[in-house]
Amino acid sequence: MSTHNEKGTALITGASSGIGATYAERMARRGYDLLLVARDLPRLQTLSARLSAEFGVKAEVMQADLTDKADLQAVTLRLRNDKAISVLINNAGMAMNGQLAETDLDTVDRMILLNVVSLTHLSSAAAANFGAAGRGAIINIASIVALAPEMFNAVYSATKAYVLSLTQTLNGEVKPLGLQVQAVLPGLTRTEIWERSGMDGSKVPPNIVMEVGEMVDAALAGFDQGELITIPSLPDAADWQGFVGARAKLGPNLSHSSAAARYKHTDT
Ligand code: NAP
Repeated sequence: MSTHNEKGTALITGASSGIGATYAERMARRGYDLLLVARDLPRLQTLSARLSAEFGVKAEVMQADLTDKADLQAVTLRLRNDKAISVLINNAGMAMNGQLAETDLDTVDRMILLNVVSLTHLSSAAAANFGAAGRGAIINIASIVALAPEMFNAVYSATKAYVLSLTQTLNGEVKPLGLQVQAVLPGLTRTEIWERSGMDGSKVPPNIVMEVGEMVDAALAGFDQGELITIPSLPDAADWQGFVGARAKLGPNLSHSSAAARYKHTDT
């Protein structure tokens, strides 16, 4: 058996369930070796054993709580130095429910550590490793609430807006080095995240919920098409292009030496 996989290894965070576990299956199917990261070691081991048997790839697991500084450092170090890793899928994330005034700030802190801090550290390590190699891909799982923050919890939505923003800037930095970057903005997707965050999934209209396999397949189709931003459920790509165009139109006027006329006081 060959010890070198031309495709390299896909490091997937939050690979023990839901979207991450589905990415793990799809990447193994595509012939990538796997490095699966999450807290639940037995679940990771069961998945990695199944995928390596089914697809003949190497699958390694790394138990880590990405809100823990030492665990995050260990994964970051591995990602920075392991030249076999060619894809990072920053998927681990948590959600929460409720209004900011009544929120549990310890949960808020953990969510920011996971959704924002760990994703940032891992993106940086991947950019350094892949940039030096002149190849590699970074896929960041955001959410449609990055574009529609009024729909859901304030902090969760803000963390996902961060993921979108970071991915857009990162793309400008590493695309010239030969790297591919993508932000995926799923709508509601049937996974464990709802129960974990205290949401009652039974109240959600089924016509706005996508099955996880369909969501990941669409995201990977967008990746194959070279998309920077993929919104799996958006029927008409022209709607996104219109949004991008409106933003570009603001660009030349976002910083001037004087305030807009409507903000100049007219008292004489
Ligand atoms: P999920 O089934 O709850 O999966 C979350 C994954 O993250 C699990 O593998 C979990 O594994 C891992 N994780 C949670 N806390 C962790 C920690 N402290 N350290 C390391 N790993 C941790 O939910 P999902 O829907 O697949 O979520 C995946 C991503 O998709 C998240 O970023 C989420 O925000 C995003 N997303 C989901 C939806 C949706 O409707 N489902 C929509 C938009 C975006 P362990 O418990 O084993 O650690």
